[in-house]
Amino acid sequence: MKIIVIGSGFSGAAAARTLADAGHDVVILEGRDRIGGRTHTDSSLGPDLDLGGSWIHGQHGNPLTPLAKAAGATWKWTDFKNVLGNSVMAFDTDGTQLDTAEYSQGIGNYDGAMAMIDGSILIDELGDEVQSMADLYETGLIKQSADEPHATQKGHLYTRKIRFQYENAASLEDSAVNISGYVKLPGGDNLLCGGGYRQVLLHLLGGLEVQTNTAVQEIRNEPDGVRVITNQGQFVADRCIVTVPLGVLQSGNIKFAPELPAAKQDAIQRIGMGNYEKIALKFPKIFWPTEPHRLNYMSDHEPPLYNAWLNFGHFTGDPVLVCYHGGPMAEYTNQMDDEDLISGCVETLKKMFGDDIPDPISYVRTRWSADEFSQGSYSYNKVGQHEEDRIELGRPVDDRLYFAGEATHPHFFGTVHGAYESGIRAAREILD
Ligand SMILES: Cc1cc2nc3c(=O)[nH]c(=O)nc-3n(C[C@H](O)[C@H](O)[C@H](O)COP(=O)(O)OP(=O)(O)OC[C@H]3O[C@@H](n4cnc5c(N)ncnc54)[C@H](O)[C@@H]3O)c2cc1C
Repeated sequence: MKIIVIGSGFSGAAAARTLADAGHDVVILEGRDRIGGRTHTDSSLGPDLDLGGSWIHGQHGNPLTPLAKAAGATWKWTDFKNVLGNSVMAFDTDGTQLDTAEYSQGIGNYDGAMAMIDGSILIDELGDEVQSMADLYETGLIKQSADEPHATQKGHLYTRKIRFQYENAASLEDSAVNISGYVKLPGGDNLLCGGGYRQVLLHLLGGLEVQTNTAVQEIRNEPDGVRVITNQGQFVADRCIVTVPLGVLQSGNIKFAPELPAAKQDAIQRIGMGNYEKIALKFPKIFWPTEPHRLNYMSDHEPPLYNAWLNFGHFTGDPVLVCYHGGPMAEYTNQMDDEDLISGCVETLKKMFGDDIPDPISYVRTRWSADEFSQGSYSYNKVGQHEEDRIELGRPVDDRLYFAGEATHPHFFGTVHGAYESGIRAAREILD
C-alpha cells in the first residue's frame, strides 16, 4: 500500500517507521526545510540545544527511553523541585536571594495542595462555577498562609502563578481544572544532552526519506485514494496520516475536501493550543553558580517576565542560560523585538548577580506561535473542552485519512512521547 505521512515530527516519524517496517511504501511530506517539527536541536550557540521539546518527561514506562538508548543518546535528570536541596536558586523581585529551604517549602506546599485536590473526590465536587484554574484559586482550597516565612510565600506564589502557566503554556483563566487528564510518568524530567532530540529522531527515521519544503495546501479524499496538493505538486496514495499540529488545523490553512466531519471540526476548535517560548543566551564565561539546575526570579511585571531559567551550564559546562516564558508571558514577549527582550534578560540577571556581568555574545529565540508550521507550542486542556475531544481529533475519516500528533493523545498530550505513541497508534489503525 502507498501511504503519505504529513509531517516529520515524532508522530510522523513513528507512523512512517511502523508502516515502512511492515513493508508499505511510505512518503513523508514536510513543509519546513528541516525535519523534527516541534523538536528542533540547534547548534548555533555551540552545544546542541533543543529549542522545542528537550526533556524526556518520566523515563520509566516511557517509549522514548529504549529508543533514546538505542540512539546512543544521553540525558541528565533535572531537579525542578529542589529535592537535592541546592538545585533551585530563587531570587526576589529586587534580586535578593531567597532562603532555599524556605522557598522549597513553598513549592512543596503548593504541589501538596494540588496533589490533594487532584487525588480526591474534591475535583468532582467543586461545582460548575469552578471551570478554570483561576476559578480553583478563588475557592481558597489552595491556601497560602500569611504566617509562613517570606521565602515560603514566594515559593508558593511562584509555583502557582508562574510555573503552572509556563508549564501548561496557557493562562490560569484558559486552563481547565481537568488536572487529572494528563498522566505524568515516573522517573523525573530528563534533559537530553549532546545530540539532543535530533539524534533520537534520526535513529527513529533510520534512513527513511523526508521530502522537505513541501507544504501541504489541500487534502482530497477521492473515491480511489487520497490526493495531497502541495506547493511542490500533487501526491496520490491509498492512505494518508495527517500529523500537523493542532494550531495548523485550527488555522484552516490546510483545506480538506470533503470537509472534515463536524464533530472533528468542533474538537479542533475546542482543544487549547498553548504558547511556550525559549531564549537561550551564550556568555563569554559562566558567571553564575554552576550548582543549581534552575534559577527562579520573582517578577512583579504583569505578566511576570524573565522568571524561569535553566542553568544549561550545569548540565554541559557551556556558558549558556535558557529563559522560558509560557502562556500570557510568552504572548507578551512575542510582541517584543530581540533587542528589548535580550536587554530585559540582562537587566534581570544584573539584579540577580550584580552589574558586573558580561553581555551575551550570541543568542537564539523561538517564535513557535508565529511559525506557520506549528502555530503554537503544544496543546493543553482548555475551559469548555469536552472529555472526548482528543479521541475525536484522532479518529480516522472513511478508513482513508488518519490523524496523529501530540494533541490526539488522551493522556500524554503536550509531549514528545505522546506524539510518538500517537504515530504508532495511527499506523496500527491502518495495519489493522
Ligand atoms: C518550546 C517547546 C518546549 C517543549 N518541551 C517539551 C519537553 O521538554 N518534553 C516533551 O516531551 N515535550 C515538549 N514539548 C512538546 C513536544 O515538543 C511536542 O508535543 C512534540 O514534538 C509534537 O510532535 P508532533 O509530531 O505531534 O508535532 P510536530 O513535531 O509539530 O510535527 C508536525 C509536523 O508537521 C509539519 N507541518 C505543519 N504544517 C504542514 C503543512 N502544511 N505541510 C507539510 N508539513 C506541515 C511541521 O513542520 C512538523 O514537522 C515542547 C514543545 C515546545 C514548542
